[in-house]
Amino acid sequence: MSWEAAAGQTANTIMPVAIYCRVSTEEQRERQTILTQREFGERYTDLHKQAVFRVYADDGVSGTVPFEQRPEGRQVMKDARAGKFDQVLVYKLDRLGRDTRLILDSVHELEKLGVRVRSMTEEFDTGTASGRLMLTMLSGFAAHEREVFRERSLAGTLRLAQGGVWLGGIVPFGYRKVGVKQEGRLVVSDDVIPHLAMSEADVVREMFRLSAVEKVSCRKIAVRLNEMRVPCAYTRDDKLIVRGKRRQHTRGIWRAARVRCIITNTTYMGLHSYGKRTATKRPPITRPMPAIVTEDTWKKAQANLKAHFLFSARSAKHKYLLRGLIKCKLCGLTYIGMMANRRNGKEEFYYKCNGANTPELLQVRCTAKAIRGDDLERQVWSDVETFLRNPGAVLAQIQARLEAEAQSTGKIRERLKRLEGLRERKSEERSRVLALYRRGRLSDAELDQQMEEIGKEENALDAQIEELRAQLRSADSVGQAVGSAEALLTKLRKRLDQPMSWEQKRQLVEILVAGIEVETIEVYGVRQARTTVTYRFSQPDEPTRVLLPTAYNSVRRTIRIPIEPKTIGDHIRRKRLSMKLFQKDVAARLGVKTPTIWSWENDGGPVEFRYMPAIIEFLGYNPLPPATNWAERLVRHRRTLGITRNEAARRIGIDPSTLARWERGEREPTGSLGVRAERFLQDEGHRGTMLRAS
Ligand SMILES: [Zn+2]
Repeated sequence: MSWEAAAGQTANTIMPVAIYCRVSTEEQRERQTILTQREFGERYTDLHKQAVFRVYADDGVSGTVPFEQRPEGRQVMKDARAGKFDQVLVYKLDRLGRDTRLILDSVHELEKLGVRVRSMTEEFDTGTASGRLMLTMLSGFAAHEREVFRERSLAGTLRLAQGGVWLGGIVPFGYRKVGVKQEGRLVVSDDVIPHLAMSEADVVREMFRLSAVEKVSCRKIAVRLNEMRVPCAYTRDDKLIVRGKRRQHTRGIWRAARVRCIITNTTYMGLHSYGKRTATKRPPITRPMPAIVTEDTWKKAQANLKAHFLFSARSAKHKYLLRGLIKCKLCGLTYIGMMANRRNGKEEFYYKCNGANTPELLQVRCTAKAIRGDDLERQVWSDVETFLRNPGAVLAQIQARLEAEAQSTGKIRERLKRLEGLRERKSEERSRVLALYRRGRLSDAELDQQMEEIGKEENALDAQIEELRAQLRSADSVGQAVGSAEALLTKLRKRLDQPMSWEQKRQLVEILVAGIEVETIEVYGVRQARTTVTYRFSQPDEPTRVLLPTAYNSVRRTIRIPIEPKTIGDHIRRKRLSMKLFQKDVAARLGVKTPTIWSWENDGGPVEFRYMPAIIEFLGYNPLPPATNWAERLVRHRRTLGITRNEAARRIGIDPSTLARWERGEREPTGSLGVRAERFLQDEGHRGTMLRAS
C-alpha cells in the first residue's frame, strides 16, 4: 500500500507571492468575474505550496489604465517596494494591461524592484532574453485576442454612438458630460471658469473669433490663452492624458498644436466623428453634437489655418520615430522631436528635452543637450534591424528551451501515466474491500478505516495528477508561444525586405525599444549628451542597458572628447574643446591649414615634428611619452625641439650617422661626446619655452 510520495514540487520560495487579478467592466458584462481568477490563483499556489502574501483585485478596472494608477495596482507597487514579496502571479498576462506596451512597462517596473511576474497559464521566465522576447510576443498576442473581442462587441458600441451617447474619453474643451453610461451626453459648458469671467464655451468662441476674424496663428492664440490663464481641458479634468498609446504628464498649458486640434475639430460646429482614432479600417461615424460656433465661422477658421500652413506644415512634416521614448535624466521630462533651420538653409531635426524647450514646464530651464535626430534614429533602427535579421542568440535559446521542454514533457507524461495507473488501482482496491465486507470478513469499523485510508491516498494521487496535467498544459502553451515567436520573427524578417511604412517601423521600435535615456554631462568644459538605449532583446546578464556602440559617438556631428588622449591629435582636440576654439583657430595658432588639424584630431594623422614647439606651447605641456633610456631621450628631445636629425647633429657637433646610431641605441655617447650630448639634452631650444614634463 504505497503511493508515490509527494515529490517534485516542494516549497520553492521562502518569500510569499502576490496574486493580481483584474476584470474590466466590459468583461464583467461578459460574465467573467474576478472570483474565477482568485480561485485559480489560490488553487495554483496551493499546488505549488506557495504562501500568498495577498490577493490584489482590481474589479471593473480597464486595462488601458496604467498599472500604477489602478487602486490595487498602486498597492502592489507599494508593497513590492517594501519588499513584501518577490513574485506576482497573474492568471494571464493581459490582466496587467491592454496593450503590449502597458504589459511590458508594468513587468519592467516590477522587475526593477526585483519582483518577477509570472503568468499562471502562460509559461515564460523574464530572467532570460528568450523569456523576455516571449513575453513580448505573448503580450502581443494578448492584444490581438482582445482586438478580436473588441470587434465583436463593436456593433453594440456603434449603435450607442450613433444615438449620440458619449462613450468616454476626454471631454472636448467647451463641453461637459451629463448622465452616466448609456445616458451619457455632452452639453455645452456654460459654467463660468473660476477667476475668469468666461465659460469654456466662451473661450472656444473667442479662439474661433481670433482665427476666423483676426486671422491669428495657432501659436499666438496659445500665447494669448496662457496670458489669460485659461486652464485647458487637461487641467480641468485633473488627470494625465493618454495620447496615442502613451501617457504624458502635462502642465496644462496651451500650445499651438492643442489650439489647432480644437479649431480643426468638427465637434464645435455640431458634428462629432466617433472612432476616427481606432486602428481598424472601419470608417468613423458622424453624429450630431451641440454646436458652439456656426459652420460659417468654423470654415473661415479653417481657411485661416491654411493661410498659416507654411508654419504649421513644417512641424507636422517630420514623423519622429522615437517619439515619447526618450527621457531626460536631468529633469525627467520627455525629449520631443523638432525641426531646426541651420544657417546654411538646411533643415535638421533634433530631439530636445521638453524642459529645455518649454521652460514654463519647470521652474527653471532644463540645460539638457539636444541630440541629433537622424543619427539616433539611424542607430536605433539599425540595432532593431540587426536583431530582427539575426536574432541568433535569442532564437538559439528558444530552440534549446523547446528541446528541454520536449524532454521534460516526455518524463511528465510517463509519470502521469504511472500515477493514473495507481489511481485506477485504488478504485479496484475499494471494490475489493467492499467485497470482503459483504462476505462478512470485515467489521464496520474496519471497513470505515480501510475506506478512509484509500480515500486519503486517492486524494493525494489526485493532487499530483492535477499538478502534472497543469505542467503539461503550460508546456503546451510554451510550445505554442515559442512557435509563434519564431513564426513572427520570420515574418518580421521577411517584412524588412519590403518597403516598410513609418507606422510599421514605429510599431517595431515600440515593441523592441524599452527606453532611451539622455544624460547631459560636462567633460573638459564641453557639455555632451550621452545616450543610452535599452532594448528588450538585450541579454539579461548585461545590465538591461545597452550603450550605443562607440561608432555612434564618433559620428562626426557628435562631439567626441578624448578623455585619455592617445595621439597628439587627441591632446590637441581635448585642449581645443576645453578652450572652446574651432579647428580653424588652432590651425592659425599652429601655422597649419584647418584640414591638417582635422586629420590630426580624427585620423590620428602623423604630426610633422617641426610643429611640435608650437603644439607644446598651445598645450602648455609636452604630449610626447617620457623617455626611458638614452636613445629615447635623444629622439624625444629632438622632436620636442622640432628639428631634423641633421640639425640636431650639427648642434651637438657630430656626424648625423653617429647620431642615428645613438638614436637607434646601438651605441651610447661617452667621454666628451657624452658631455656634448648631455648639454644638447639640457637645451630647451631657441623658443625658450618653459616646459612641463608630461
Ligand atoms: Zn531635461
